[in-house]
Amino acid sequence: MRDYAIGTLSVHAGEDSGQPGCRPISAPIHHAVTYLHDSLEDLDAVLAGSRPGFVYGRYANPTVDSLERAVSRLEGTESALACASGMAALHLALHCAGARRGATILAARDLYGGTRALLSEVFVPAGVTVKFADMTDIEAVRQSVRSVPTAVVLAETISNPLLRVIDVPAVSTISHQAGAQFVLDNTFAVPCLYPPAADGVDWVVYSATKYHGGHGDVMGGLIASSFDRCRAAREANKVLGSILGPSEAWLVLRGIKTLVLRSRQQCASALTVARFLQTHPRIARVFYPGLTTHPQFTLARRLFASNLAGAIVSFELKGAGRDEVFRFMEGLRLITSATSLGDVYSLILYPAQSSHRGLSSTERADLGIGEGLVRLSVGIEEPVDLVQDLAQALGSLEEP
Ligand code: PLP
Repeated sequence: MRDYAIGTLSVHAGEDSGQPGCRPISAPIHHAVTYLHDSLEDLDAVLAGSRPGFVYGRYANPTVDSLERAVSRLEGTESALACASGMAALHLALHCAGARRGATILAARDLYGGTRALLSEVFVPAGVTVKFADMTDIEAVRQSVRSVPTAVVLAETISNPLLRVIDVPAVSTISHQAGAQFVLDNTFAVPCLYPPAADGVDWVVYSATKYHGGHGDVMGGLIASSFDRCRAAREANKVLGSILGPSEAWLVLRGIKTLVLRSRQQCASALTVARFLQTHPRIARVFYPGLTTHPQFTLARRLFASNLAGAIVSFELKGAGRDEVFRFMEGLRLITSATSLGDVYSLILYPAQSSHRGLSSTERADLGIGEGLVRLSVGIEEPVDLVQDLAQALGSLEEP
């Protein structure tokens, strides 16, 4: 349960670890990798977990600890864990959720390309079976988990790049009925839109490189879950070692202070941009869950706070292939072509070239990712300027 509104928590959470009486206003960055203890008995107690404290940088760090406390408060979970990247967080969550030799993962068909590669290049060779399902089709999910014992269900709240929204409470219930743990990548939704742990998600995962960091200058990953699950993940990470450094933790913690402000602005601008694109003659289709034409518009309204629908807009240029998409992207003056999302800057990418490069064109077509599809991550610039930039780049395509 959150004790304050999320906009308030994002400013203050995690900043309560300093000296009583004279506390620094922002969390200090602790670079030390090892710690002196008053006695070996004290060290022993900290190592045994019977006394709070720090021993070694790969086990825990006070700055990272501040970030983890902030995240657990934002998510309304008992605990949280920071990792070196979103991929590291996904790897750790899947491993700890039970993706081991002989187990089956049921994964959403349209996952981030890197997540698909994690499944096929790490988990499958390790003896895990991966099955895919359309997670927007609840009956298909039910049938899939019934057809074979399933250890883990993996999905994204808002899928990448087609922005399909899944019915998280329903998938959560089905997973638990089947005895599976539900791992959800909530990167595109961020906690101010939707904190999924309240709907029974076992492992909430983020690429903190995106909205939490928010400024394109830090890599990180986050897991939010129960005490017990986070403790297990922390123990596993002691040997996997995919920890977040203290400077990176500080940057993410700093980013979180404006996460809610940024996110609300970005979502509002994304709606403006999506509405503009929808009316443009060079655009074949716009994918944005805040548009009434989106197949999961009603679901998005039900799940997400304050009618927000995220800040990613994907759209298809009419009749375009790679060359024309490149011409359009290179014609943009303000919106930047770069392979990330969630930044203060508006960023655009061509999924066929970057996030879904690892798939064949047939596989992409199968998922609905056409050759003319681009993905725009809306930043905090004024929406009028974003619309103008898109209009001029699209306008230049219309010239003979
Ligand atoms: N999940 C999603 C939805 C992503 O888009 C990405 C990266 O783009 C990741 C996870 C991986 O995050 P990172 O790049 O921080 O490892």
